[in-house]
Amino acid sequence: MSFATQAQGPATATRKPVIEVSALTKTYQTQAGPVPVLHGIDFALHEGEFAAVMGPSGSGKSTFMNILGCLDHLTTGRYALAGQDVEALDNDALAGFRNRVIGFVFQGFNLLQRATLEDNVALPLVYAGVDRATRRERAREMLAKVGLGKYAQSRPNQISGGQQQRVAIARALVNEPRLILADEPTGNLDSKTSDEVMDLFCALNDEGISIVLVTHEPDIAQYARRLVRFHDGLLVQDSAVENRRWQGKSAQEVRA
Ligand code: ADP
Ligand code: MG
Repeated sequence: MSFATQAQGPATATRKPVIEVSALTKTYQTQAGPVPVLHGIDFALHEGEFAAVMGPSGSGKSTFMNILGCLDHLTTGRYALAGQDVEALDNDALAGFRNRVIGFVFQGFNLLQRATLEDNVALPLVYAGVDRATRRERAREMLAKVGLGKYAQSRPNQISGGQQQRVAIARALVNEPRLILADEPTGNLDSKTSDEVMDLFCALNDEGISIVLVTHEPDIAQYARRLVRFHDGLLVQDSAVENRRWQGKSAQEVRA
C-alpha cells in the first residue's frame, strides 16, 4: 500500500468543512453547582483532514469529542457538522444524522462479548434499518477490510486486543461515515499493536475519511497531519504535524 504525499489532496481552503465549531463553551450542571469545562473553542476540520488532540487529563478533550460526536450538547456557541447546525435538530433527527456521518472508536473497544464479530460490526446497520442479508454482507466486507475476514464467526474473547480494536474500527466504518472520532483508541494497546491500528487509521484517511483522534502519546499523534492541544478547557495550539509517515513509510517503519 502506498502512502504518497499526493494523497493529501487539494489545499484545505478548497475542501468542504466537516466540523465547524465557533465560540463553543460547555458547563456541566452538577449537584454541587455549575462546572465550566470548555471556554470559547474555535475549531474547523475539512474533508480529508486528520487531527490529533492532546492535552493533560481533565483538560476537556473527551468533553469536546462528546460534543463533536453529538453525544452531548454544547452550552453556548455553534457547532455545524457536515454543514448542519446540530443544535437545530431534535433528538431523533440528531441520532439518525450522527449515525450516518460519524463512526466512533473508543479506548475500551465496546464490543458485545456474546455476539460474533460479524454481528458486532453489523450492529449500526440494525439501528439504520438495513435488512439482514445486506447487514451480513456489509459486515463481512468491513471485517475483510481490517484484515479479519476469516474471524467473522469468532467472538471478541477469542481474538487479541489489537484485533478487537480493528473490529471496532470495522463497526465504525460500516455506515460509510465521512468522519471518524476516536478517543484514546490505542490506550489499551502495546506499541506494536498501536502502530498496526494507526496504519489502519492512516489508510482510511488516505481514502478520504476525516479523523479526529485523542491521544496522550506523542508517538501516536505523529500519525496525524495536524495537532490540536487543549489546556484547562482552552484550545491552546493548532499546528501542522511534520509527519515522516507521509513519505511512503508504514507506521512500523517510522517508529523503527
Ligand atoms: P479529558 O478527556 O481531557 O481528560 P474531560 O473532558 O473528561 O477531560 O474532563 C474535563 C473536566 O470536566 C474534568 O474536570 C472533569 O472532571 C469534568 N467532567 C467531565 N465529565 C463531567 C460530567 N459529566 N459532570 C461534571 N464534570 C465533568
Ligand atoms: Mg478523556
